[in-house]
Amino acid sequence: MNPPTTATLSIPIAWQFQPGVPDAQPALGVAGEGRIASEAPIHEPRAATRNACKVCAPLGACVVFSGIENCVPFLHGSQGCATYIRRYLISHFREPVDIASSSFSEEDTVFGGARNLRLGLANVAGQYTPQAIGVATTCLAETIGEDVPRILAEHGAANSGGPELVPVSTPAYAGTHVDGFHRTVRRVVEHFATPTPPHAGINLLPGFVSPEDLRHLKELVAAFGLPCTLLPDYSDTLDGASWPEYQRVQPGGTPTRAIRRMSGARATLELGHTLLGSGADTAGRWLHQTHQVPRMPLALPIGLRETDAFMAALGELAESGCPDDIQRERGRLVDAMVDGHKYVFGKRAALFGDPDLVIGLCSFLDEIGVRPVLCASGTRQAAFEPAIREVLDHSEADDLQILTGADHARISEVAREVRPDLIFSSSKGYPLARELEVPLIRVGFPVHDRIGGQRLLHVGYRGAQRFFDLIVNTILERRQDRSETGYSYL
Ligand code: SF4
Repeated sequence: MNPPTTATLSIPIAWQFQPGVPDAQPALGVAGEGRIASEAPIHEPRAATRNACKVCAPLGACVVFSGIENCVPFLHGSQGCATYIRRYLISHFREPVDIASSSFSEEDTVFGGARNLRLGLANVAGQYTPQAIGVATTCLAETIGEDVPRILAEHGAANSGGPELVPVSTPAYAGTHVDGFHRTVRRVVEHFATPTPPHAGINLLPGFVSPEDLRHLKELVAAFGLPCTLLPDYSDTLDGASWPEYQRVQPGGTPTRAIRRMSGARATLELGHTLLGSGADTAGRWLHQTHQVPRMPLALPIGLRETDAFMAALGELAESGCPDDIQRERGRLVDAMVDGHKYVFGKRAALFGDPDLVIGLCSFLDEIGVRPVLCASGTRQAAFEPAIREVLDHSEADDLQILTGADHARISEVAREVRPDLIFSSSKGYPLARELEVPLIRVGFPVHDRIGGQRLLHVGYRGAQRFFDLIVNTILERRQDRSETGYSYL
């Protein structure tokens, strides 16, 4: 079963499970969000998700496996899951995305899919000759309790010299694409990293950002002269150049030999505000606990303040100041903020999408004088609301609504009340923007209704600069289009 993309029945919200937060379930029959920050009226009770503001956990796993060199993602379960996820990824990244499937039949659903899994692994190994196959479970395989690690261990022992087989458990009823992404990064590191002598390199775990973000992060780290293992790195595999001939596995990705050496790195920079707390079970925390690699958790470097913190961390590791080019980029951003402040100050914004992206954008909007009045995510995370409050100056304001684990139906209800001037979301926010007649600024994933979603730059001073220009120009364009005068000098 694919999660619905329109207002149809999905998984009952009361059944959804948040790892590590046992009391996170909402009261039965209350609308599909964790809690409402301020005293919002309770709306029509319901027990089902309507138009989910999230995608399923194996999708996050497939993105991570796509960012490992010569690795093929493989879904253990029904074929529809692989088809749905491929369609979703292709329409955002505009690249061929191969995802293998063990393609359960009714018989496999009853008696187990081990036979299909072994056959599928042999086919993929024969046809793609990959270095690794990442096997993520779908709802069906999880529901019947398939012991995938055991099946893979037996298959690997019987086929020595074959690709590395990396299992990850990603039941979509226990998490979203964001949860699946982070869980897979941890699983990959656990699988490959082996005791290694200390070396000068650093680990960078960026979270689910765009290929353009990955390229820029690599550029920034290189500017400080730091050798770096970026995991995952789908900057080429999901946004590559054109090929003279078709290639079964896209070139690029984090080499497995580099992942093995992550255990000897000087430090791990792990990005994402929701990962800062002590509860998150992350790859960076595992590297610290198992191999004593110092962990430096940071927010996603979106906006001035968080990018400053990222630069300070790189400077500390490199024992150097910020390179001149980057400082000038920062200076241009501050100058632009001064120039455009009068156009954006006081505008009200609704933001929804992946938690760390929403938190990062909130922080940035707060810096430029835009007032977030609705911050929402489909991923249920206890750290979301405190993080939003931490980054916002007006966090105690009465008109601020924070929703976690929310669906688009609920987000739309609240947006109709708070009447934003701007909406920041994936292309899933278009129907709401159209209804409210406010501009939609597309961010994050998925962007299905425009080209270039994979080249959206969110991070760094450069990303903030692009967004600032876009926000100001969107406001100006709207004012210009609605003006009776039609003036051309603003
Ligand atoms: S993994 Fe689960 S939610 Fe995702 S497409 Fe398959 S059945 Fe649907």
